[in-house]
Amino acid sequence: MAGRLLAGASARPYRGGMLEIRPNCERCDRDLAPHDAALICSFECTWCPDCVAGFPGRACPNCGGDLQLRPVRPAEALRRHPAGTTRVLSPA
Ligand SMILES: [Zn+2]
Ligand SMILES: [Zn+2]
Repeated sequence: MAGRLLAGASARPYRGGMLEIRPNCERCDRDLAPHDAALICSFECTWCPDCVAGFPGRACPNCGGDLQLRPVRPAEALRRHPAGTTRVLSPA
């Protein structure tokens, strides 16, 4: 089934709505590679696990939203849809 999904994605270019996959933690500015563990909220505020451990209720400090482990984009998909390069920083 995953194979079918992938084939469909290559036949029909994905337009918008995909994750930026930001390159750093907004709090401590550490580099987060696309395959590194990172947590994101619905707005894709991006945080490293160490910072999230210090957030009250493990909620996003920007929007108060739920944080989830960022999905890892497969290397093949990354070639067509590279990870974002715009660093976002929200100091405490
Ligand atoms: Zn951090
Ligand atoms: Zn947020």
